[in-house]
Amino acid sequence: MNKDRKHVPIPIGSVPTLVLALANTGKMYRPSRQAIATSFDPFTDLQATQDLLRSWEIEGLVRETDLAQLQEVRDALQIFIRGCERHDYQWGLALQTLNQFATACHWVHQLSEKGTLVEKLSGPVAAIIAACCVTELAKLDLTRLKTCCRSECELVFYDTTRNRSAKWHAENPCGWRARAARSQSNERDPVDA
Ligand SMILES: [Zn+2]
Repeated sequence: MNKDRKHVPIPIGSVPTLVLALANTGKMYRPSRQAIATSFDPFTDLQATQDLLRSWEIEGLVRETDLAQLQEVRDALQIFIRGCERHDYQWGLALQTLNQFATACHWVHQLSEKGTLVEKLSGPVAAIIAACCVTELAKLDLTRLKTCCRSECELVFYDTTRNRSAKWHAENPCGWRARAARSQSNERDPVDA
């Protein structure tokens, strides 16, 4: 029996964590209770980068020379996400950059003192992160990667709604604030019937 392919839903795919975390570094956003939008690039500071990588459970000491590489991987990831629909020249270059970095990462297999196998990623931190990102990217639905619709927020998120209707990276604060701003402007400028 032939099924109509148009009606077969595309699976949501697995929600990326590192891809989002990396793509959102250095982006403008406006936290709740803050009057203006802000941004901070951790890859301009050695300690901030070390702390961030530890929170992502990426091992290894970060050196000054890693910072520029991490920025390069992050920038490539952001261009890749932005160009997912167009597949333009810049998108192709970004994909190439991600893959080149990922190539420098390899699996290491070691025997622990307990006699068990220990598997871990090895290589420069930027290579490890690129490898983890391409693994995540391959498991998700790229068309669900979106940028928050609130004008003061540039954060990327993964739309897990069945009908792909999510507009904001999170309800708090972006969804609430955007709706509040819209209702205020409707009150100010009522549309003539
Ligand atoms: Zn947002």
